[in-house]
Amino acid sequence: MPVAVFPLGPLQANSHILHGHTQAIVVDVGGDPAPMIKYLHTHQLSLTAICLTHRHFDHLYGVAALARETGAPVYVSAGDDPLAETESAKGGMWGFPLVEPFESRPLAPGKASFNGMECEVLATPGHTPGGISLYFPSEKIVFTGDSLFYRSLGRTDFPGGDQAQLMHSVTEVLFKLPGETVVYPGHGPLSTIGDERANNPFCGEFLP
Ligand SMILES: [Zn+2]
Repeated sequence: MPVAVFPLGPLQANSHILHGHTQAIVVDVGGDPAPMIKYLHTHQLSLTAICLTHRHFDHLYGVAALARETGAPVYVSAGDDPLAETESAKGGMWGFPLVEPFESRPLAPGKASFNGMECEVLATPGHTPGGISLYFPSEKIVFTGDSLFYRSLGRTDFPGGDQAQLMHSVTEVLFKLPGETVVYPGHGPLSTIGDERANNPFCGEFLP
């Protein structure tokens, strides 16, 4: 199934639409969702869920507007609830704007299903305490948020960050996925699990 990627907002957070012929889900909304709404209209897609990889403001800017426009429910890991009332989630730090508040439902790690597609919600904490990755085995894709990037890893110096936890999430959870799995990260270009397993300078196989 196609994945459309929209780098949105002041930090160009990758915002994704994964869809079939009639239904779609969104993963993260980093800014004004107008291009995503246009895409949904053009392809005549109904949006059934807005899933969030983690509660950091740069991935949340367009969530309220997209939910209002489409009526789609918003799902976020309860493990990130401690961040909800902090600047990490609400914005406002470093001169960045505030995030418009939105209603959300909890999305627990484990098996889930969206539009008839099986999804494994993987707990990948470390960048945030409740960060998740969304793995769709039939599509061979994983949305990793800010846990794993092309040749890089997420920061762990924000509130609730934990470097050892992040390393565990990447090497013991994400790197256990099949090598051909395409990685859709929260920022920057795509990669694959196999490529990062071999070449990521922070946790690749060549490290002791
Ligand atoms: Zn983040």
